[in-house]
Amino acid sequence: MKSGFVSIVGRPNVGKSSLINALMQSKVSIVSSHPAITRIKVLGVYNADEGQIIFLDTPGFEKNRSELSKSMSRTIFSCVEDSDIVLFLIDAKGWQEYDEKILESIKKYEKKIILVINKADILDRKEFLLPLIESSFEKHDFLEVIPLSATRKNNVNGLLKAIFKHLPRGEKIFPDDMKTNIPLEYEIAEIIREKIVNSTYQEVPQSIAVAIEELKPGNKDKKMIAIKAAIIIDRENIKPIIIGKNGEKLKAVGSSARKEIEALLGKKVFLELWVKTVKDWKNRPDIFRGFGYGNF
Ligand code: GDP
Repeated sequence: MKSGFVSIVGRPNVGKSSLINALMQSKVSIVSSHPAITRIKVLGVYNADEGQIIFLDTPGFEKNRSELSKSMSRTIFSCVEDSDIVLFLIDAKGWQEYDEKILESIKKYEKKIILVINKADILDRKEFLLPLIESSFEKHDFLEVIPLSATRKNNVNGLLKAIFKHLPRGEKIFPDDMKTNIPLEYEIAEIIREKIVNSTYQEVPQSIAVAIEELKPGNKDKKMIAIKAAIIIDRENIKPIIIGKNGEKLKAVGSSARKEIEALLGKKVFLELWVKTVKDWKNRPDIFRGFGYGNF
């Protein structure tokens, strides 16, 4: 039996969330608390006959150096430190300066690193991968280089195989039914945030947060769950982008988020979303802690 901790590291948009979704096969994992490991954030636990892989949550590297991104970077490094294996992601277009910077900053931990070349589906021909694989080995002595497509779920099994090959021997660390220790509110907020990110422009996501303000049984129907969530933005001019014409965008976000939250909770959900401007929230730890980013 093998078991161990694996973190997923890479610049924003390289496909980390898509990869974890593909690895965990379902979009949201079951939520439960595990007080024994409050220092690390477990994103998901993958159980198989070969053993157990515990994926650690590593928030994306942000380019701007606001307070939030600084405290996030600290968490990334603590995740790397806690890992047996680091999955380092680049995309099939090739190395960017920012990728190299992140690689440099994690090298000093002397961890085993598997390079994942994501978005392999964007290449017309497989041969184009070879020079990229070769040049990658010049940058670091990676354990393995695995090309895959997270969204098309191509070669995700190849990656799982490679992880098991290099994981240390050991018994399962968590019971089979435990998948994550992320608080429910945080997971719900992340579902909503993901829907907004998918429906807006690239520059918007980094300046939004989602705060769950209420989560309780419905007023009229106790079998329903009523959730009120605030979408926090730091600039008033983002508001129309998020809300859309006649509120259509926000409505669509609410509707797709609601379906996913219903699947997560196994209950009907009444979801109320509103947009709130909090100037400079990213530089105010007192505020972003309240959003559930407190442990970052
Ligand atoms: P993260 O910021 O690193 O978590 O990146 P995401 O997982 O949110 O992905 C960023 C964007 O890349 C999204 O639009 C994804 O749909 C897209 N993406 C992720 N994986 C793949 C892939 O394998 N192929 C292609 N073509 N797009 C992908």
